Amino acid sequence: MRILVIEDEEGITSFLKQGLEEEGFEVELAHDGNNGLEKTLTGHFDLLLVDWMLPGLTGIEVCKAYRKDNKTTPIIFLTARDTVQDAIYGLQAGANDYIRKPFHFEELLERIRVQLRSTSVSPVFTLGTVSLNVETHKVMNKGTEVSLTQKEFSLLEFLLRNKGKVCKRNRILDAVWGHDADHDSGVIDVYINALRKKLSLTRDEDYIQTIRGVGYMANDQ
Ligand code: CA
Repeated sequence: MRILVIEDEEGITSFLKQGLEEEGFEVELAHDGNNGLEKTLTGHFDLLLVDWMLPGLTGIEVCKAYRKDNKTTPIIFLTARDTVQDAIYGLQAGANDYIRKPFHFEELLERIRVQLRSTSVSPVFTLGTVSLNVETHKVMNKGTEVSLTQKEFSLLEFLLRNKGKVCKRNRILDAVWGHDADHDSGVIDVYINALRKKLSLTRDEDYIQTIRGVGYMANDQ
């Protein structure tokens, strides 16, 4: 899945690029409206994240120009504006959704997923005998549904999206508990143990591996 981020604030673009890439998206950046519009017309993207206030064309102008060609790629607006009227302008210009700055990465991610869900097949992630369906929020193991809490589900989803890669503890905290969450990273171990128990993983089925001093890694045997 390719996402184009049109945003001029570097702090936000680097934060978004890193976060989205760690979630498995390919990310392309444009730092002004004109360059952004040009990229939408020449490249293929599954979703556009467009800031409202941009040098050159504004986000609204980019959006209108893009929609003139009947293009249906979902667009999410990033906006610091907070009046109802501004939100309406954005939606009228052809945006599918908007999110106000400052936002939580987790919330943006969920809004991105909602938009992608309506345009693509629901992604199912697997790990050994375990499968996780992002759309239905169902987790199955050996044909039996496993009941997880929201946090357990998010944690498992994060590990599965990054299967085969070591997930560092601070990235897990950011992704599952939010980047400003006031949590000790010990909370991760508690949830990992709960997950292993609920998924009835035996010692031979070490799908969720502890990488000592670093974090965890989901891996097929
Ligand atoms: Ca801006």
